[in-house]
Amino acid sequence: MNPAKSPSSRRVVAICGGLVLSATACAQQSQSDSRYKIHDMARPQPSVVAPGTPSTQANVGTAPADAIVLFDGTDLSKWSDGSGDARWRLVDGVIESVPGGGYLTTREAFGDCQLHLEWMVPADLKPKGGAGANSGVYLMQQYEVQILRREDRPTYPDGMAGAIYGQHPPLAAPDLPKGEWNTFDILFTAPRFDEDGSLKTPAYCTVIFNGVVVQNHVEIFGRTAAGQPPTYAKHPDRMPISIQDHGDRVRFRNIWIRPMGE
Ligand code: MG
Repeated sequence: MNPAKSPSSRRVVAICGGLVLSATACAQQSQSDSRYKIHDMARPQPSVVAPGTPSTQANVGTAPADAIVLFDGTDLSKWSDGSGDARWRLVDGVIESVPGGGYLTTREAFGDCQLHLEWMVPADLKPKGGAGANSGVYLMQQYEVQILRREDRPTYPDGMAGAIYGQHPPLAAPDLPKGEWNTFDILFTAPRFDEDGSLKTPAYCTVIFNGVVVQNHVEIFGRTAAGQPPTYAKHPDRMPISIQDHGDRVRFRNIWIRPMGE
């Protein structure tokens, strides 16, 4: 007899967490967490988070309620430039990098995270040697998501804004002209290392740039090194995030982070 046509097989249902399911579905373990069955009502509910509001060019948005606000326009207390205090300028509620001021680095360390940051190339920036308006977000002080003015100054694709520098060109170039604010939303999975220092799993990164996906869960091949093949060296599970001083003036506002994972 074809089991599919068996009268008894059609009655094989179960009450599972208040829902009527096939017995097969009820018994199967969740593939994402074997402690729970599929549709298991005993599985912890996600925390309720009040979302933030997006920025416009004229107005600064707000962070989700559970985010750590790293810069809201009032002070640089969450940051250091390695000298004990940040030398970067706070002007009219925005951070402006000071050429030669050193990297601006969070006082707190992070691993897996969601990072939001907004940046602008000043409208009065004058072209100079090199590509100009170079900065970048150094995740774990190791892995750079590039910030660079593209306007009137083409550069190599794996060095453009939104690139994983020297590794992955951005999938698109949605950057706005000088004088306008750009947004980065970065999802980062930190690398894992074995006790002996060997790489267990690499870092991964997704970058959404002005609402456009420019990096889609790409594997990071190692620490950013200009002109050199990237390699990994074991480091702590959590490390600060730095904003690069590359000798150019770049502005920043509305920086927040949501640590993720363990
Ligand atoms: Mg850079």
